Amino acid sequence: MKIITRFAPSPTGYLHVGGARTALFSYLFARHHGGQFELRIEDTDTERSTQASVDAIFEGMNWLGLEHDSEVKYQSKNLARYHEQINKLLSEGKAYYCDCSKEELDEMREAQKANGEKPRYDGRNRDKGLVKTEETVIRFKTPLTGEVTFDDHVRGSITVANDELDDLVIARADGMPTYNFSVVVDDADMGITHVVRGDDHINNTPRQINIYHALGFPVPEFAHVPMILGDDGARLSKRHGAVSVMQYAEDGYLPEAVLNYLVRLGWSNGDQELFSKEEMVELFTLKGVNKAPSAFNTTKLKWINQQYIQQANNERLVELLKDRLAALNIETDIDLHQVVELFKERAQTINELADMGLFLMQDLTGYDEKAEKKAFKAGSDTALQAIIDKCEAVTDWQGADLHQLIADVVEELEVGFGKVGMPARLALSGQAQGPANDVIMKILGQKESIKRFQAALDYVKAKLAE
Ligand code: GLU
Repeated sequence: MKIITRFAPSPTGYLHVGGARTALFSYLFARHHGGQFELRIEDTDTERSTQASVDAIFEGMNWLGLEHDSEVKYQSKNLARYHEQINKLLSEGKAYYCDCSKEELDEMREAQKANGEKPRYDGRNRDKGLVKTEETVIRFKTPLTGEVTFDDHVRGSITVANDELDDLVIARADGMPTYNFSVVVDDADMGITHVVRGDDHINNTPRQINIYHALGFPVPEFAHVPMILGDDGARLSKRHGAVSVMQYAEDGYLPEAVLNYLVRLGWSNGDQELFSKEEMVELFTLKGVNKAPSAFNTTKLKWINQQYIQQANNERLVELLKDRLAALNIETDIDLHQVVELFKERAQTINELADMGLFLMQDLTGYDEKAEKKAFKAGSDTALQAIIDKCEAVTDWQGADLHQLIADVVEELEVGFGKVGMPARLALSGQAQGPANDVIMKILGQKESIKRFQAALDYVKAKLAE
């Protein structure tokens, strides 16, 4: 049997982390079995669905590299097919019109609650043979007896008695089919063999199975994947920070790192942490999916991202760095390859990498206060002046041994290395810590290096004159 899975988001917002993780599991299961992965946009809720959300979903899927096989299916373009199937159920006596008003339904619910019963539609119009009006909805005749059983790939065997389920609405008064109906028709029409989705839908599954039976469609298999929690144990939401997949792109994460993080969120293969996409495809099984919800952990995501940045090709990191600098409106002519080489081991995100390199691209705004007390004092002026003199004498800056240049100053002044090295570092970077002076000088170039030493010298002189 050829395995076909799908991801079926409702376009009412961006692609969030939970949806992306569900999509990934669905994708991996299909790819692992050499099957097909499909994308369906569930946009029958015309008030909440937007084109911007559809675009955001495509953008997120594309960024993560979760490519689907067939053309995208839109539920809003498939209404005739749902109506045909609804009419079939009506004509076979498996569905009926119901004219209960909202008030009537509320009353029903209140009365049931008062009697200690579970609130549900009581089937009062089931056998009345009502006809269609502008107010009538269509309800599905859930079998009155028997039970529904399915063997969930994650949760195991689940059985629900039909008398626990009520006659659900399958078409609203305006004729729009409801989720539980359209999802069945589409999954059947698309030949979906395995429905992999969030476990917030697990209560819908017995209802949907009854609809499959009523329409005479084969019932697919199901895998309900647990939800993602925030670090406080509550369901992951905006409150916990970034939940939109594209926010991670903006925050400087690499897509393969996000994928890797997501696959480990509720799935494991021994104690392996890093997986290429090929490895994920090779190793993924639904059996490896945890039943329990998993908690989102930004520290771990950052660690994974760092591993991928360290492994990434420098050309690619330069391009990503350029994008980030453009987003920050920073223009520079320094060689970004050098910036990447300098910081790729330490940066956990591209944005951090950009931040680490900012002092090379922008004028210094001042000197670290604590460092300044130690590094800019009597004698620093002499050291800075000596460095400037040596720098000015260099004819081939990129070919010069700038480490030696500083060492020569140390030797000539007959002082400890710190007496020259510290003021130089502070002059070049504004900070006490950072890359070696000669490395910074190479990247900045001769003119800018001298400019920074001169600015520091002027600053020290003014300070000493106070
Ligand atoms: N449109 C539904 C959702 O976004 C899909 C549920 C399903 O996969 O069946 O929750």
